[in-house]
Amino acid sequence: MRVKRLKHCKKIVNFYKTTFGFRQPFQVLVDLTFCQFALTYKINIKEQVSSYIEGDSLLCTTNCILEEGKSLGPQLYGAVLVCKQFKLRKCNHKKPVSAQACILSIIGEDNPHHFFVSTQDKELCDQLKKIPGVPLLYIHYNSLVLEKPSKGTLDRGDQIDSVKTMTSSVEKERLQQLKKLQNVEEEKEPRPKRRKVKGVNPLAMKKKKKKAKDSIPIKDANSIKKRRKKKRKIAAHVLQELKKMKNSSTDIDVVQ
Ligand SMILES: [Zn+2]
Repeated sequence: MRVKRLKHCKKIVNFYKTTFGFRQPFQVLVDLTFCQFALTYKINIKEQVSSYIEGDSLLCTTNCILEEGKSLGPQLYGAVLVCKQFKLRKCNHKKPVSAQACILSIIGEDNPHHFFVSTQDKELCDQLKKIPGVPLLYIHYNSLVLEKPSKGTLDRGDQIDSVKTMTSSVEKERLQQLKKLQNVEEEKEPRPKRRKVKGVNPLAMKKKKKKAKDSIPIKDANSIKKRRKKKRKIAAHVLQELKKMKNSSTDIDVVQ
């Protein structure tokens, strides 16, 4: 089950890497709801996130998130302490805003800094799913789950892929045109010259085989001899005796 879960995660991470250009260390933006769940299920966020997404991760949070936690009272005290361990990411909010608003402003329209977002906030998740290229990480039944790419993300992925293939073909064409304009001929690697063979290599010469006229091909004697069944010959005197016996038996029959 664990292997299946990791395979599923690896596939999604690879998608974000190849299509959206995510690179290690992966930046993971963590909010207090996630920290609270991690505390409840005794999950070591740093360790588990890195092992789950199979790569170095850089956990980070914002001042707005911490401030919101503080304002919500002692219930979130533990979560705030956990969150404080992470790197503080600048968010340009002089006056703290809600965690949701802060995260959404950092992600922007297309997540240019390639953040993963770790949150248990359903409302925030729904809003983030509308933005293409935002991997969502959450805790479900005591384990981490990387959300499947949303439809918007998949559609944007297709667009990016098609643009990539188009540019490569356009670039090729442009390069060919430039070459023609500049009269640049493609340099061909000179063929290695063949050595001319002088004379005949005496070592390579084959000795003529002498034809052995008289020699008879030797075959296996056993293969030539056909097995013949020997007829069993019966000695003449035995035959005579046998005849006598036969006659005598017929005589007896007659008497009877
Ligand atoms: Zn902020």
